Amino acid sequence: MINVDKIREDFPILKRTVHGKPLVYFDNAATSQTPQVVIDTIVDYYSNYNANIHRGVHTLSQEATDKYEEARVKIQQHFNAKNTYEIILTSGTTHSINMIASGFSALLEKDDEIIVSALEHHSNIVPWQMLCEKTGAILKVIPMLEDGSLDIEAYHTIVNQKTKLVFCNHVSNALGTVNPIEEIIAKAHQFNAAVLIDGAQATPHIKPDVQALDVDFYVASAHKLCGPTGVGMLYGKEEWLEKLPPYQGGGEMIATVSFEKTTYAGLPHKFEAGTPNICGGIAFGTAIDYMNSVGFKNIANYEDELLKYGTEQLLKIEGLKIYGNTSNKTAVISFNVKEIHPYDIGAILDKLGIAVRTGHHCAQPIMDFYKIPGTVRASFSFYNTKEEIDVFVNGVKRAVRMLS
Ligand SMILES: *Cc1c(COP(=O)(O)O)cnc(C)c1O
Repeated sequence: MINVDKIREDFPILKRTVHGKPLVYFDNAATSQTPQVVIDTIVDYYSNYNANIHRGVHTLSQEATDKYEEARVKIQQHFNAKNTYEIILTSGTTHSINMIASGFSALLEKDDEIIVSALEHHSNIVPWQMLCEKTGAILKVIPMLEDGSLDIEAYHTIVNQKTKLVFCNHVSNALGTVNPIEEIIAKAHQFNAAVLIDGAQATPHIKPDVQALDVDFYVASAHKLCGPTGVGMLYGKEEWLEKLPPYQGGGEMIATVSFEKTTYAGLPHKFEAGTPNICGGIAFGTAIDYMNSVGFKNIANYEDELLKYGTEQLLKIEGLKIYGNTSNKTAVISFNVKEIHPYDIGAILDKLGIAVRTGHHCAQPIMDFYKIPGTVRASFSFYNTKEEIDVFVNGVKRAVRMLS
């Protein structure tokens, strides 16, 4: 069970006002808010043991290295990776995806096929298009259906011997759809294709088990699960990480360097060139501890309640249409009212202290599918309340009155 009053005490930002009104933060799918323990971790790092890692013999460097590597273990345990060195710390989901896309340019040949889903964030589309331009590989798309789910029957006809890689998000950031990734992974593996799952939107709600999923790559960003921006993770199966060339050259990623020949460091350092976001990595570990202390089952149950309540209340508004209506979705409500532009609704809500996202949510192909310029997106977290939903629904009603 979630004691939401107690949880809200953990988030200092929830006490602030916007335009004189209490903040109602419903833009959690873009970034989550930060609990005090994570803020404390950041302050503690810069106040007490700020130092570069993996090189110094001095005490501060060793303390920072220990904490950073402890965070890696926390991430490993959270995702149930078999080995700690299969967790690469990156600057975020976008960085993780680009790392794999760049690595595959060494493994793909002309006319190989790679498969993307119609529900992707631009960061899981554009790097693959760039990869196709470089290699001559062909990008195939799993189409979507009216309710915001993937046309999984179509997927079964698209995968074949030429398929080398399939990538799909676990949860769509624009619609909240939870995708059948188990089925997607199993089918791809029948043809020995690798699968990358973009977990940026799933990880705030679901605790994935990468071994049970048998997924080849799983990526996420700390800032969507109560951690800081500028840090994220890439899980890769050892055999794949060994096969891929390093992404960037530099310090930290080498074993020996001479002008004749450089040899690369082992995993995970091969993929971690340069000084990383040390403080961010450590705070990522704290965020994972915090989320687990709240409990992912509790989070999912409570957010489902918010989703159900918010959906019911919004649907009472005449002319309001929700995009993404699958039974298995996270607490995201993407909607429009009549012909009103989403931006206009968002701007009025802001004046009322309510933060929502408007636009295409970095998923333009989905908007093209529905033939709309964008949506208003309200996304709930476990620190939101039904009272906030009431304030929001009244705000939408007011905006609609003003704009129609
Ligand atoms: C947020 C998001 C991304 C991008 O994450 P960054 O932290 O901006 O790199 C990618 N995919 C999905 C599904 C997302 O929700």
